Amino acid sequence: DGKIPHTFVVFGASGDLAKKKIYPTLWWLYRDDLLPKPTKICGYARSKMSIEKLRSNCDAYMKVQPGEQAKYDEFWSLNSYVAGAYDGRTGYELLNQQLEQMENHCKANRIFYLALPPSVYDLVTLNIKNICMSRNGWNRVIVEKPFGRDDVTSKALSDHLASLFDEEQLYRIDHYLGKEMVQNLMTIRFGNKILSSTWNRENIASVQITFKEPFGTQGRGGYFDEFGIIRDVMQNHLIQILSLVAMEKPVSCHPDDIRDEKVKVLKSIPALELSDMVLGQYVGNPDGTTEDARTGYLEDPTVTSTSTTPTFAMAVMKINNERWQGVPFILRCGKALNERKAEVRIQYQDVPGDIFEGNTKRNELVIRVQPGEALYFKMMTKSPGITFDIEETELDLTYEHRYKDSYLPDAYERLILDVFCGSQMHFVRSDELREAWRIFTPILHKIEQEHTKPLPYVYGSRGPKEADRKCEEANFRYYGSYKWHGSKSS
Ligand code: NAP
Ligand code: NAP
Repeated sequence: DGKIPHTFVVFGASGDLAKKKIYPTLWWLYRDDLLPKPTKICGYARSKMSIEKLRSNCDAYMKVQPGEQAKYDEFWSLNSYVAGAYDGRTGYELLNQQLEQMENHCKANRIFYLALPPSVYDLVTLNIKNICMSRNGWNRVIVEKPFGRDDVTSKALSDHLASLFDEEQLYRIDHYLGKEMVQNLMTIRFGNKILSSTWNRENIASVQITFKEPFGTQGRGGYFDEFGIIRDVMQNHLIQILSLVAMEKPVSCHPDDIRDEKVKVLKSIPALELSDMVLGQYVGNPDGTTEDARTGYLEDPTVTSTSTTPTFAMAVMKINNERWQGVPFILRCGKALNERKAEVRIQYQDVPGDIFEGNTKRNELVIRVQPGEALYFKMMTKSPGITFDIEETELDLTYEHRYKDSYLPDAYERLILDVFCGSQMHFVRSDELREAWRIFTPILHKIEQEHTKPLPYVYGSRGPKEADRKCEEANFRYYGSYKWHGSKSS
């Protein structure tokens, strides 16, 4: 875009996401000279605030290093803030005047980030469209989850946004799509003959996609209680990963070619039923060492004391197409578990025609998204020495060792930069969203209407035992014999 100025508008600039993620990300991009020049930033929210106040809200999250102070001051000199309401025209008119002034009344491109509760999305987007759009440059709108709470509410939001903007202007953020190993899935799958040839029902027994968090709601469960882990993690982050793991090879790396394939694979997945799922809710661990660990979900004062909202969910998904028929895709996510981890685990089938007295274990390819990016392949080897015993070992690609000096940017850094560049590859298209809600809405409604009771599990455990039984049923084998000789997280 040459020297056309860019203006980045943060709606909800006084809020949590703005200070913890959006301003820090913009600062890091600015610090590394990655933002197009000139770019200016304008915050908007109801709270009356000076730039100094906004800056001091953000300071703790900006990670300014010694020697960067001058540049940091420079960054804030590019910022403005306008206070105004979300309803009525006045605030938006003031905002637009401010934007025009920042752009010296020249041609400019505008990015609008909605860091706001979804209750005001409709009003704010309508007013952006009517009052705040750049007349001669491009306009892009970044929307944060939740994108509705079921198929109907999500469609209403999509229809509303579609009445105001073209799909090319809409950037629905799922920050998992900004993670290194998620972005690597396409290369791993389609850049390696050995994997592309075995990535199918003839070779793979089951696939696990896992998200685990080691803490509970920490007294802030109010928002979570209305959504639950299925909406918070599974319907968005895990389903996005699933579609990248399972999709057919796209015609090219063009964003719409990729998203066409992601939609296709989602269309092959039938809506979930309760019998495909295990739901859990954590209870306090009386022996826990922290207050959080001793507090069960229902003891969080911001959670309804009779809540049946799941904090753990596992779903066995079927993909009814030629590649995957009969291969269970096991999605698991939960809070208050034994560790923090997000990974994809591809478990291969048993070797047919056994000559090792039943001692071979299945191969597994593990793609660890966090913490500590890694890809390892569990395989059988002869135990070294004067023996013909066999044992499990691994081919290991740990990023920290192999790519010591590379800097892996944060997910938001990549995604916000993508918006400046106009690349929608790592953003969710409306038809993907529609398919994801089709799969999950019936089960969500059923659970809510029938108050399906989740199984209790202890804070800090691996989740309900029933989930392990269900994994076994879904053709996942755990042997308990594999020994890793490296350090715990790398
Ligand atoms: P937040 O702090 O609760 O809200 C952002 C701002 O919106 C507030 O500073 C407030 O500004 C205004 N606001 C709050 N409640 C409002 C209400 N009922 N009506 C009108 N305005 C209200 O929210 P957030 O945590 O920053 O999250 C923003 C969006 O990002 C939400 O959709 C959230 O689901 C999503 N999100 C957040 C995170 C996160 O880490 N926080 C992560 C992923 C997604 P004023 O009062 O000054 O107008
Ligand atoms: P593993 O211990 O054999 O576990 C494999 C799978 O079995 C996991 O999905 C695990 O689920 C599940 N599982 C664990 N206990 C179970 C039980 N009692 N019943 C049923 N299922 C169970 O192999 P691993 O997890 O791949 O590796 C072991 C350790 O070595 C991990 O800490 C891993 O990070 C580390 N390692 C690191 C690297 C590296 O950094 N490059 C390479 C290789 C291994 P959950 O997810 O629920 O625990």
